[in-house]
This record gives sequence, structure tokens and C-alpha cells, in this order.
Amino acid sequence: MGSFMTRSGNGDSPIALKRRGALAAIAAGALVVGFDPSSKRWIREAEASGGCGGFPGWGLPQLDGTLHLDLPTRTGDSNDNGLIVQKVPAAVLRPGSTNDVKKMVRFCRQYGIKVSARGQHHTVFGQGLTTGLIIETQTLNTIHSIGPDGAEVDGGVLWKDLLIESLQQGLRPRGLTGYTGLSIGGTLSVGGCPLSNDQGGLADHVQSLTIVTGKGNIVECSDCDHADLFEAALGGLGQCGIITRAKVDLVPALPMARTYLLHHVDNALFFEDLRTLLDRGELDEIYNVCVPPGLAPFVYQINATVFFDPAEPPDDDYLLRELNLPPEAVVVVDQPYLDYALFVDYQIEALRQSVDWDHLVKPWFDVWMPDSTVEPFVGETLANLTPVDVGAGGFVLILCQRRSAMKRPFYRLPDPECGSDWIFLYDILTSSMVPGPDPAFAAQMLDRNRDLFEAARDLGGVRYPIGAMDFSHWDWVAHYGNRWHSFRQRKQKYDPDKILTPGLNIF
Ligand SMILES: Cc1cc2nc3c(=O)[nH]c(=O)nc-3n(C[C@H](O)[C@H](O)[C@H](O)COP(=O)(O)OP(=O)(O)OC[C@H]3O[C@@H](n4cnc5c(N)ncnc54)[C@H](O)[C@@H]3O)c2cc1C
Repeated sequence: MGSFMTRSGNGDSPIALKRRGALAAIAAGALVVGFDPSSKRWIREAEASGGCGGFPGWGLPQLDGTLHLDLPTRTGDSNDNGLIVQKVPAAVLRPGSTNDVKKMVRFCRQYGIKVSARGQHHTVFGQGLTTGLIIETQTLNTIHSIGPDGAEVDGGVLWKDLLIESLQQGLRPRGLTGYTGLSIGGTLSVGGCPLSNDQGGLADHVQSLTIVTGKGNIVECSDCDHADLFEAALGGLGQCGIITRAKVDLVPALPMARTYLLHHVDNALFFEDLRTLLDRGELDEIYNVCVPPGLAPFVYQINATVFFDPAEPPDDDYLLRELNLPPEAVVVVDQPYLDYALFVDYQIEALRQSVDWDHLVKPWFDVWMPDSTVEPFVGETLANLTPVDVGAGGFVLILCQRRSAMKRPFYRLPDPECGSDWIFLYDILTSSMVPGPDPAFAAQMLDRNRDLFEAARDLGGVRYPIGAMDFSHWDWVAHYGNRWHSFRQRKQKYDPDKILTPGLNIF
């Protein structure tokens, strides 16, 4: 673990780093009971009961959950799924309630300690890491209610768990990520892109949130109530608050899913068929997976799915009319809806077994492209990718969305275009060939990602900040463009001491 490539630029000042270095030097210990501001170190239970206990006013608040200082717990939260960045936190909170989050954010603010929420840590470049306090949201995992008007869930609930629970009532989340083992809070904080195409991002399917701000206030917000915080939290990268609860849309679920697999090798014909299917709007979900290169060129695989009731099966000939592929070349797969929705989870589980997927280095590249430039950009980049650019557990994805349906202002996207409402999330989900940290490979891929990003940006592309790329403060200013001023104002209002989510280096 010690050989991880440790990246800088986390927003921590040298003084803060020194202070947290001292905090991190406290090794194995039991529960934490206080913080000594003069020596800037946490006080462990053993010390307190052994005569160091008289710290009136310095003790930690009473918690419903637990705070941990022991090295195994802290080391366990020192990296994410990318295995590129490592930061050992000074302490780990396993909250028992929103109140715990509030109390600890207030406490940390008082002492200038940075705080990051940690969902399933599937971002890959230290977005959720800090040398301060990690708040694991996994313990906030209650589904409070499910009904036709939506689901009330804690921020640490996984999409998969909500899916399974809501299907019991014939309902499903209005949109789902491909892989559903992700926390709802973590996904909403990055914005979330579902496989459906015309109903907006996951952040557009939220009715209300409970948030703990960087000031340690609990705020209930929605489009009508504290709307400025609501907007800043949805796609706002955890900069203004920690999402502890959300009410998300549910819709009726049909029992079956029919997926049409269309295989192309020609970039132009692929895009023509993809746009035809999208424009018709007759299918429920359309996305593309590119099969990695071997000796052959990339093969594009459009996954076009319609949900149905067995009593009314879809009309294949009609749905597949006038495409570049004859209907007999299309592979048709019927599955129960749940198997369809968990398909990527099954694939990831298979990769976990076959190539130790969780321990591969993942320098992912993710960018939103406008319709006018996506075709040449994808065509040229795919033509230049080698097997190493994809890796043992990697794949290439293209997700498609209507730009006009994505309404959250701080979820940054390509500018609207005349002539087309489509935008495309292009993901090169690179992994290393073998498990374990590999700083040289990571550095090589970070350079590649930066080059690709600059080419994409020149074509109107916008970073989707779940992947791995060196991004300076000024890159963020450009990323937010004319919304930067407003984003900075909200940060100032809700997290004036800039303690929240330092791993992105935005402020
Ligand atoms: C196999 C796979 C498939 C994926 N498919 C998709 C897809 O189809 N569409 C898509 O949009 N994304 C997809 N993603 C990306 C995924 O949505 C993001 O990486 C998401 O952030 C992961 O959720 P998480 O719970 O792991 O968050 P984490 O990685 O734990 O956190 C992400 C960021 O959000 C912050 N954060 C976490 N929880 C909270 C909270 N409660 N409140 C505020 N901030 C918080 C963290 O500090 C961090 O900065 C995929 C990822 C994987 C690994």
C-alpha cells in the first residue's frame, strides 16, 4: 500500500497537512473521545481514562454511531477504486444518524479539519479522500418509505437495494446507473447518468434532500425550499453539503426487458443507427459498449432495450425497421427486468472473480460530448486505443442523453446546440493488466487522459468528474464557466471554511 502513487493538489494547506500528519501518527487505538486543540490531536478512550481525561469542552459530542482512530480502519479508507491516490484519514466516522454528521462537521469546522463523505468509493482519483475526517455513509442505509410518489432513502443506500425493494411493489427508480452497487448520495453528488435517454440525469429525479452543510446545519431542501442548496448539492461534487437523505422518483416497472444487440465495426454507420433509434424514442434505454481491441478493430455494440409485459411483446420488425443492419443480424435477448437491471453488476462480479477487478488500477477517462463532434472524436480516439489503453477489466461505454432534460445547473454539460438535443457520455474505463498499484502506468494514463480531455474540450466536451485526471483550480473555473461565480457564492454561503470534499481541488 505504501507504494501508491500519492498525488498532491488536494486543497490541504501545508500547515493543515503537518497538523494532520501528526494526527495520522496516532496509531492503533480504541474509540476517540476528544480532541486536544493545543496539541492538535485526537484523544483516545485509553488516554482519557488513564488520567488524560480532563478536557472539558474539548470532548467529542455524544454520537449515535462510532468514531474510529485505529490504523486498519483509517488505512481501509485511504484509497478508492482507482488505486492511484492514497490519503490516510485522521479519523473515520460511522454515523448512526444525520445528527452525528452534523455534530462531527461542526466539530471539524471548529478545528479546521477537512471532511469527506465516502459512499462506495467507486470514483477513481481521490475525489472522496482526505487526510481529515472520512464519513462513511454505509451506516446510513435505511430505506424509509416506498410508494408511487417516490422513495425516501438514506444517502448511503445503494441503488441496487432500492431497486430490489421497490420492485416488491411493482415500482423501480426512474433512472439507474449501469452498475447499481453505488450509493445514492455519492451518485447524486456527481450528478449521475442513467441508461435511459430522455428523462434527465439521476440528479433530475430527486424531489428533496436532507443535507448537512459545511457549517454543520441540517437543511431540508427541494426545488421550492432552499433551492440554492438543492441545486448546489445535485451534481455539486459534495462541495456545499453531505447528502444524508433523499426522496427520489419511482415509476411503475414492467416485468420483462427485451434487449436488441446491434454490432457495427464502422463508426459512421454505428452513429447513424444510434441516432435513428434515439430520435424515434420507441425504446426505453439505449447505450453502447465497445468490445476491446484485439487484432480486430473495435466492435460497437448498441444495447437497445424495451420493457414489456409478456402479454404484449414488442414488435421487433417495427422497432428495428430501416437500420443499417438487417433484422436477422440483430441478437435479441429477453430477461426478467431485475436481471436486465443488474446485468452490469453481474459483469463486474465476474471481473472481480476473474481479474481481481477491485485491485486493478483504474485511470478512467470520462467526458460529455456534444452531438456535433462526438462522431469524429469517438472514431479517432477508438482507432488509436491499444489493448493497454483498455486493460484486463476495462471497457468503453457511450451513454446518450437529451440535453434539454438535464436541468441541474452545476452538473456541467456541453452547451445546447441548434439542430440536436443529444449529448453523449464517452467513457474509456481503462484498467491495468494486473492487480496492485502501478504508479508508472497511472502516470502514463493520466497524461493520456489530459491529452484526450484537451482535444475533447476543444470540440465542446466537458469532463464528467468521476474519472482520473489532473485538474487545476483554473480548470475548475473553466469547467463551471459562467456558473463559477454562482457556485463559489454557494460554497461561501454553505461551507465558508472550505472543509468539505477537498479531494477534487476545486476551492
Ligand atoms: C462499474 C461502475 C459503473 C458506473 N456506471 C455509471 C453510470 O452508468 N452512470 C453514472 O453516472 N456513473 C456511473 N459510475 C460512476 C459513479 O456514479 C460514481 O463514481 C459515483 O460517485 C459512485 O458512487 P459511490 O457511492 O461509489 O461514491 P463515492 O466514490 O464514494 O463518492 C463520490 C464523490 O461524492 C462524494 N460523496 C459521497 N457520498 C456523498 C454524500 N452522501 N453527500 C455528498 N457527497 C458525497 C465523495 O466525497 C466523492 O467526492 C459507475 C461506476 C462504476 C464503478
